[in-house]
Amino acid sequence: MADVGKRFDAVVVGAGFGGMYMLHLLHRSGLSVRGYERGGGVGGTWFWNRYPGCRCDVESMEYSYQFSAELQQEWNWSERYSPQPEILAYANHVADKFELRRHFRFNTALTAAQYDEATQTWRVCTSEGETVHCQYLIMATGCLSSTNTPDFPGLDTFAGQTYHTGAWPTDGVDFSGKTVGIIGTGSSGIQSIPLIAAQARQLTVFQRTPNYSVPAQNGPIDSARVAEIKANYAEFRVRNKAQQAAFGADYPRRGDSVLEASAEERARRFEEYWGYGGFMFLAAFGDIGQDESANFHAQEFVRNKIRSIVKDPRTAELLCPDTLIGCKRLCADSGYYATFNRDNVTLVDVSEHPVEQITPGGLVTGGREYKFDVIVFATGFDAMTGALLKPDIRGRNNLALGDKWHAGPRTYLGLMTAEFPNLFMLTGPGSPSVLANMVTGVEQHAEFVASLIQWADAQGSREISVAQPAEDEWVEVVNMRSRATLFPRCNSWYLGANVPGKPRVFMPYVGFPDYSAKLAEVVDNGYAGFTTRGVAMGQH
Ligand code: NAP
Repeated sequence: MADVGKRFDAVVVGAGFGGMYMLHLLHRSGLSVRGYERGGGVGGTWFWNRYPGCRCDVESMEYSYQFSAELQQEWNWSERYSPQPEILAYANHVADKFELRRHFRFNTALTAAQYDEATQTWRVCTSEGETVHCQYLIMATGCLSSTNTPDFPGLDTFAGQTYHTGAWPTDGVDFSGKTVGIIGTGSSGIQSIPLIAAQARQLTVFQRTPNYSVPAQNGPIDSARVAEIKANYAEFRVRNKAQQAAFGADYPRRGDSVLEASAEERARRFEEYWGYGGFMFLAAFGDIGQDESANFHAQEFVRNKIRSIVKDPRTAELLCPDTLIGCKRLCADSGYYATFNRDNVTLVDVSEHPVEQITPGGLVTGGREYKFDVIVFATGFDAMTGALLKPDIRGRNNLALGDKWHAGPRTYLGLMTAEFPNLFMLTGPGSPSVLANMVTGVEQHAEFVASLIQWADAQGSREISVAQPAEDEWVEVVNMRSRATLFPRCNSWYLGANVPGKPRVFMPYVGFPDYSAKLAEVVDNGYAGFTTRGVAMGQH
């Protein structure tokens, strides 16, 4: 039955890795907590992204919670990079172990939230007609959870089935004997294309911009390595947290310049890092992410790999990106480029002739109609702000979050935004979030928020907010950090460039260790930048 008028100390929105741990911490500290989750179960991104081939691009031993030594020891991963079903099973195991499910209302989305200054509480409304009140509202809604389907004319007229990789049916899709079109060649497209191609009768890939992809070099997990890590897991975590992206500590990040290396050394080093696989390719030299001419050498290496793998020269050239490598998120694949050697796979370039229209039978581009039984949209997400702006969230003086962020998100530390007291975001814009190991990031934020709430409570405060100058300064810091990299120089979702009309602002903070140091400094200085206001307990 829908609750109306019930009061909680805190409401947590989202039952992904962030929301589950946030709820656990707050409940453990004695607060009454209600969780809401739009999906039918826990797992967040791993609940929704069930497309074939979906797996994590951070290694299994790193992409997991570290708050419980027992959990770390008891869970066993089977592959170097975990497939989606295994990560979802892990999320369910965590929910069982810490008895989290009973606090969540599933299939229930937050639709609106309004701050009441008189009582210093939030009034929260859901899709299921619930209206509850809480002191603290924590948005653990994820950075890549609001799917982006371009507004193609005629979308509703298609007579076959359409699927978005980020909202895949729970019981899967059988492509056997089907003619399939897929739009999008980001990480989701690149992971799913080889598996869809292996099942479908015919697959046509519509590519607007080619992406760089490095083989994940996935395989069964190395049991000796697992034993070594488990023997001293805490130290392994510390080593990883000292890395820029909070992972990849045990393979060397080389600091020397690609420009100073001989041609032989360059080729040898890139080959070695290609062989190791995944994101670490960008760590082959120290200046790939900073210097355009250094970056060019890494690009060339990958382009030549593509040309050596893909047999048809015209297709190979179409697959070769000419942008900066690592500027958009690097993809990690299993057999992506080789898939284009299959007889049942065709690549169609839509960079000059966009998808004009979806028809009952398929889609039209360049004046030609392609017929399909199924169309897959691998067209990404309204990243970082999408899920925060979907509900109607209103702070002081009825200010809408969407209005405050009309020119792009503004936060202090990616945790709070001024004029919205007692509203927290986990891995919000302005924090390392998508540029770091997400599980490490959400754990860090959940622990920070729980401690801040306890600290405020100890002072008799009912309201935590952000001082405007602290937010303004932080926004500058985030901008300055990104300007020192090549990140702002391409059209990525980090900048909101993939969603028409979205303000172009680089959203994540670059550098997990510096960010962690900043959080520690804030705590040492009495939660500098945050302000509290007290009313006598029990007044709300
Ligand atoms: P994405 O990287 O944003 O890729 C979307 C693709 O759709 C791009 O190729 C884009 O082309 C294309 N597209 C969008 N609108 C289009 C249009 N109107 N016409 C034609 N093409 C269009 O999204 P994603 O692949 O879902 O990945 C998003 C992020 O999720 C990743 O970067 C990663 O952080 C995360 N992810 C991670 C994993 C993993 O752990 N392995 C797997 C999947 C996703 P343009 O490039 O031209 O815009």
